[in-house]
Amino acid sequence: MAYQMVCVQCGAKHDSSRYRLHCESCGGLLDTLYDTPATVEARVVSGAKGTARYLPTLPLNDPANLVTMGEGDTPVVPLPRVGQALGLSDVSAKMEYFNPTGSFKDRGNTIQVSVLKDTGVTEVADATGGNAGHSFAAYCARAGIKFHGFVNDANADSRKVHAIALHGTQVHWVGPGRAARNDGARKYAEDSGILQMNYGQNIYFIEGLKTLAYEIAEQMDPLPDHIIVPIGNGSIYQGMWKGFKEMLEDGRVKRMPKLHGAQTEETQPVVAAFEGRDWTPQPGDPKSKANGIGVQVTPRPAALLQGAKDSGGRFVAVSEDKILEWQRALAELEGIIVEPTSAIVLGAAEKLKEAGVIRGADRVLLPLTGFGVKEPIPGY
Ligand SMILES: [Zn+2]
Repeated sequence: MAYQMVCVQCGAKHDSSRYRLHCESCGGLLDTLYDTPATVEARVVSGAKGTARYLPTLPLNDPANLVTMGEGDTPVVPLPRVGQALGLSDVSAKMEYFNPTGSFKDRGNTIQVSVLKDTGVTEVADATGGNAGHSFAAYCARAGIKFHGFVNDANADSRKVHAIALHGTQVHWVGPGRAARNDGARKYAEDSGILQMNYGQNIYFIEGLKTLAYEIAEQMDPLPDHIIVPIGNGSIYQGMWKGFKEMLEDGRVKRMPKLHGAQTEETQPVVAAFEGRDWTPQPGDPKSKANGIGVQVTPRPAALLQGAKDSGGRFVAVSEDKILEWQRALAELEGIIVEPTSAIVLGAAEKLKEAGVIRGADRVLLPLTGFGVKEPIPGY
């Protein structure tokens, strides 16, 4: 099974023999186009916990270039006391922070770093500093790829940045402001002739997130009625949407769960687009503790809106108070600590319940995306 890259704007097709981020004709972002219907059968291996584990997903020229360290195969854990607090009888978590570097990002990075290795890339630059950067640095270390990470000097005390450095990343301090990271990485990449990753935008990362949908279909019978995820770039949402679409096409599942997305009230471009409102970001960097989803310009908004249309899902904004309240409730009621970016899905569940979108007996799955003690606990 081979695949091509197809432009989401103009439809131009490109071969997949090298790493590609943009269309050569119009500069648009790319999607995958499989020569034959996508199927994961060849990629199933036995998981450590007895479930099938779906090795991710794009075909490589040389299978030996797969860069993996046991990502996926995360358990589904009931949340009865949180469910009671929400007025819901069937709420579970998928423990995505059990992945090797403590977040779901490993599902995407196993794919995109494998493609880098498979296409002969040996040195890359990018803005970094969060879970995605930590995960990317780890997979680059494993692949022997030199990573230049551009870090905002405001993140100097971040454990995620410390971890990025420990993996052998060449850390470049820039600042102030998040934009300085992107500007620094772009200039360095241009000057030195190396690749700028932009891992928030590329389709390889999203392809890796499809494994989440495949695992859910295997672990949960019946399927959840609702799945709620945080939305920054929207990669986890798009990965699930693509995964469930493939399984609908090949008959593996009969329906798609309603896929909902949560954003902060401060940074809600996708919620606004979904509701048909204009939205303008405040100047400067977002202040929310849910710092993993402070993405003011969504790279693939059309795909997110299509995912909501296909699945019957919604996008909702959650207040800062509710995010922190639910982070604490999850810790107190269920013994689980996640970062605010992840706890937002509980606040979204509450809103969707109040709106009558989620009913009391519905089956609800909350992927918990990021480990809670990589960064300071709010209030301490
Ligand atoms: Zn194009």
